[in-house]
Amino acid sequence: MSKGTGILREVNKRKLLSLVRQLKRTSRKDLVAHMGVSKNTVSLIVEDLIGTGMIEEVGVRTRSAKGRPKIMLQLAEQAYKSVGVLVNEDNIQVTVMHYNGNILEERKKDCSCKDISKAKEAIVSEIKDMQARHGQILGAGIAIPGIVNSDQAIVYESSRLGWFNEPFDLKKEFDLDLPIFIQNRVRMNALQSLEQTGTMADSIFFLQVSEGVGGAFVKQHQLLSGGSWTAGEVGHIPVSEHGPQCPCGQTGCLEVMISELAFSKRLEQINEKRLDLPLTSFIPDQVADIAADFGNNLGKALIYIMHLMNPDQIIIDSPYNKSKAFTDACLEKVQSDALRIPAAMTEITFSEHKYDQVTGAALAVFFDFEHGKF
Ligand SMILES: [Zn+2]
Repeated sequence: MSKGTGILREVNKRKLLSLVRQLKRTSRKDLVAHMGVSKNTVSLIVEDLIGTGMIEEVGVRTRSAKGRPKIMLQLAEQAYKSVGVLVNEDNIQVTVMHYNGNILEERKKDCSCKDISKAKEAIVSEIKDMQARHGQILGAGIAIPGIVNSDQAIVYESSRLGWFNEPFDLKKEFDLDLPIFIQNRVRMNALQSLEQTGTMADSIFFLQVSEGVGGAFVKQHQLLSGGSWTAGEVGHIPVSEHGPQCPCGQTGCLEVMISELAFSKRLEQINEKRLDLPLTSFIPDQVADIAADFGNNLGKALIYIMHLMNPDQIIIDSPYNKSKAFTDACLEKVQSDALRIPAAMTEITFSEHKYDQVTGAALAVFFDFEHGKF
């Protein structure tokens, strides 16, 4: 077999695994149709993957007209797993995910992560432990709050963790036999949102509101990094002239105006009791006013994104999505102030799903594998 054939077979193998993951249960015939390759190619890869314990045949579900049993395929229990890690100030969250998306184990471990060497040691010890207890770990993804160069494994800046220009190549530093990569925590969820919403859009902007506000631009399943890995940092678009000062130095940044922290501060101002996020559809009127204000500010930022990047679709993950006051105010602002064409053609989706960053980190390992990143 020539080198070219070997690479092609590997590409097809990953494509097939990706399809089995997404379709959950499928047949050789369906795989041929989805992949656009010959029946023989699919059969060979399937036999190979059954042999290595990645996929398995299941029952005789239906009988075709000719009376032949239809054998279905699914991921086997011993298929790949991945480890996702989320670094917080006082702890690290760890999850082990099966290739079919099921969470096999979740853990939270206390750690003062502001001390970077402590954080690294805790992460490595967790990964090693998970690797020993769950076989077939394909890789580990580490989600970090801040600006991260994933290609060179450097954390440029994490003001939350107090890390600046820190090399973070754990595989090399700790001599591990496992692919490990780091990524900004919001970007970890961007590809996940594409798959979850089943969007067919060519380009999307994913915007996430949590303790902070971040985003990522994705074109044809590729995350745009930009020249200094800050593409999509929408949290620092100023949206209010008289807003509070942001740690970045500007006033009225989107992040200080609509983050979860901003929400609890606004509640305090009106003496409303603490409200748990995400907001439900039944919220008191005073809170609806805050939600509308937040929606209006988000709308202002979306207009910049639409004019600058012009994505086909914007997917918003925020704890206020269930509030009609929030979504209406946002859409009204966009419709009234954006240029007519992007206002009419950009699809704005308020996601029903709340993305969880540690799960995103685990899933990102599978996406990178399927796209041949390692
Ligand atoms: Zn700012």
